[in-house]
Amino acid sequence: MMENNIRINPVGEVIQDVKQPLDMPIIGKLGMIKIYRQYVPALFKITDNSHLWILSWFHEAERDMLKVAPKRLNKSLPERGIFGLRTFNRPNPIGLSLVEFIKVEDDSLYVAGLDAIGGTPVLDIKPYFEQDIIFSPRTPYIRAEDPVLRSEMFKKEALAQHREDCIWLKIGVRIAMIADEHLGKLQSPDIRVKVMGPGCLADVIQGLTRARFANPPRLECESNKKEVETIWKKEEKKLAVKLRNTDLSSNLEELKDNELFDIQFN
Ligand SMILES: [Zn+2]
Repeated sequence: MMENNIRINPVGEVIQDVKQPLDMPIIGKLGMIKIYRQYVPALFKITDNSHLWILSWFHEAERDMLKVAPKRLNKSLPERGIFGLRTFNRPNPIGLSLVEFIKVEDDSLYVAGLDAIGGTPVLDIKPYFEQDIIFSPRTPYIRAEDPVLRSEMFKKEALAQHREDCIWLKIGVRIAMIADEHLGKLQSPDIRVKVMGPGCLADVIQGLTRARFANPPRLECESNKKEVETIWKKEEKKLAVKLRNTDLSSNLEELKDNELFDIQFN
């Protein structure tokens, strides 16, 4: 039998304005990690990485929960065992955050997308590698009830694929919001989509649906300069979302779905 007590020495601490776990946006935010002096040499050449895993200790967590419903995202979802959830309440509240490296200055590591509050002890930092990428994992659909949050989560997924916050990313996220409303989880193996439009939009839709061209063939693309349209199919349902002839330099957020798109569902 192994010893029950494991000694861990934190390597640093999160410096962050947000001090309460429930005030932390689910998608995380910009944060700084102060690395303790004796561990600063471990940052050598970390600049070669664009993304990092941050392992931290959610010191404010409740440690006696084994099953919980992800109520913060959606009040109507059923309970799950915490080993299938990312909730911070768990027996050993180790935080696992995938963040984007921004810069390092002396003992300060700046990252984006960190969901740990100010004062959180940091246990370890590891690089995110290509081998970590599973393009279309099977996951339960933990759908955010709040459309603003849902759209932020879609934007984060789309950005992870496309890496450019261009106009087509904004349009792609709007299309995804409509498709999700009509068809449910966009990564479902039984959703197929055809994208007619620029490469940027195809990229974004692929990032949001995790659809591949084959095995199974869920994605079709056609570059088309004149008309921009996505056609979605699930079982007997068909959804067509076509971009209207709109001035895209105007503020997209001000346009309603039916002003921006011609939507047909049957
Ligand atoms: Zn783009």
